[in-house]
Amino acid sequence: MTAQLIDGNALAARTRADVSRRVQALKARGVTPGLAVILVGEDPASQVYVRHKVKDSEKAGLHSVLERHPATLSEADLLARIDALNNDPAIHGILVQLPLPKHIDAARVIESISPAKDVDGFHMASAGALVTGQPGFWPCTPYGCMKMLESIGYELRGKHAVVIGRSNIVGKPMALMLLAKSATVTICHSATQDLGAFTRQADVVVAAVGKRNVLTADMVKPGAVIIDVGMNRNDDGKLCGDVDFAAVREVAGWITPVPGGVGPMTRAMLLVNTLEAAERT
Ligand code: NAP
Repeated sequence: MTAQLIDGNALAARTRADVSRRVQALKARGVTPGLAVILVGEDPASQVYVRHKVKDSEKAGLHSVLERHPATLSEADLLARIDALNNDPAIHGILVQLPLPKHIDAARVIESISPAKDVDGFHMASAGALVTGQPGFWPCTPYGCMKMLESIGYELRGKHAVVIGRSNIVGKPMALMLLAKSATVTICHSATQDLGAFTRQADVVVAAVGKRNVLTADMVKPGAVIIDVGMNRNDDGKLCGDVDFAAVREVAGWITPVPGGVGPMTRAMLLVNTLEAAERT
């Protein structure tokens, strides 16, 4: 059996088109959704990410502001900028690109963002809302994974989902979102013994580790849905995920590719969160 692909590029394009339509409707009511992206320092990967985020927002008709600050920016000055954006009615979403320089306490910075503008979904209030099932912003990567499962009409109720990875931005929120859909959820991590014993029982596996070939074909139940969040480089320097894609696709029922899977959906969900922040005002 060769798995069907869950095409993140195509789904992201549909998601962006829907966002554009809703942005036009909001504009007709006199509201233009606004996103502020803050970059501190010169990290090359971060520069690429923020450029994409700003370009995506502009294409979807959002108002977007990119603030670049030198790596020497003090924490107090950054907090003052966030305070100004919290009080700026033209800005509905604020995103501080991570990582921040070492002299800045990232947790304190994230907590300074108004929860109403926390479109990355990293604020404690957003995490609490997710845990308790209240409305709030969901982190873009696991939210995008949920949209991918939804796009294939997958019924999670009663299924066993295994999440590999327990970070605050991917693994843990992913597990909570799957739980909210009544899946039985197992979270695996670096101390998990015999990872394959868990994944072989899984109807859905979400791999969010950051290591190549964490999930190989012998670890997958035939027909399972495989969502690959990982972003790694192979020996040729090409982008690849955590999953041994070529072999696993011969066993799985559905699989997301890397590139062209979770990455584009993560970007699209930032637009959704920003739009929804504006719709709530
Ligand atoms: P992270 O904070 O480094 O977390 C990685 C997790 O993997 C940790 O919980 C770690 O366990 C676990 N782990 C490490 N080795 C393992 C092993 N051998 N077996 C099982 N679990 C293991 O990373 P992250 O921020 O969650 O990101 C994970 C990956 O997703 C990275 O490749 C990242 O680049 C990618 N990512 C992609 C997108 C996208 O848009 N496509 C977005 C975000 C992240 P411990 O907790 O025990 O250390």
